[in-house]
Amino acid sequence: MELFDSHAHLDIERTTQKQLRALLDRAFEQGLVGIVAIAGATRVGEYELTLQLATDDRRIHAAAGIHPHAASGATIDALDKLMAVLDHERVVALGEIGLDYHYNYSPPAEQRRAFVAQLRMAHKAALPVIVHTRQAEADTAAILADEGVEQVGGVLHCFSSGVELARSALNLGLYISFSGMITFPKADEIRSIAAEVPIERILAETDTPFLSPHPMRGRTNEPSHVKYVVEKLAQIREIDAEEMARVCTANTRQCFRLLEALPQE
Ligand SMILES: [Zn+2]
Ligand SMILES: [Zn+2]
Repeated sequence: MELFDSHAHLDIERTTQKQLRALLDRAFEQGLVGIVAIAGATRVGEYELTLQLATDDRRIHAAAGIHPHAASGATIDALDKLMAVLDHERVVALGEIGLDYHYNYSPPAEQRRAFVAQLRMAHKAALPVIVHTRQAEADTAAILADEGVEQVGGVLHCFSSGVELARSALNLGLYISFSGMITFPKADEIRSIAAEVPIERILAETDTPFLSPHPMRGRTNEPSHVKYVVEKLAQIREIDAEEMARVCTANTRQCFRLLEALPQE
């Protein structure tokens, strides 16, 4: 299968260099043609490891942004540093950014401020955005519309919201990315949305190291597990898994404008 993991964290501190190498080897052996690696989501401003990985291996593409959990750390200096990193030739997206009112690790007002500031940076940098949203559907939809996200494009990652937000995102031209959550027994609502989203707007992701899909649930997640997400999507859409993989990979390349990376036939 031609697989692409549209969202993975390769810079989480508990992974050693050796574990990381083994994880990437397994991914590429499984047929992954690409990974979008999210830099700095757990440590504000620490983008170096992911940028190095993306520089060393062209199959790894980097995204950088200040996560809503860390929004209180979105100081002028932190935003300036991020703006400079967005110029790096291996950075394909600004993210992940957004709102998470489930945990409120940063106060909601600060989350909104950091989200708006970074959406404006996406316009300046001409980069698509990767949006994280949890229990903040109305504010997310309003801010994305107000800030003209349709001009930069992007994706709602690890989709776990209701149908209203899915519709708003689709109307704004965004992609919707599904994670291992769609394999969980209680995820009927997410599966019903995955059945309805236009197929050309669907991406697949792992959100490594979180949310390992069934049958790997309970183990640390890794990019090679994206195949379980794709297989579940194929089952939901009643199409062949190879075809689903091909579509998700093509959509990921469209979303992040990686068309120059298409293999020569
Ligand atoms: Zn997220
Ligand atoms: Zn993430």
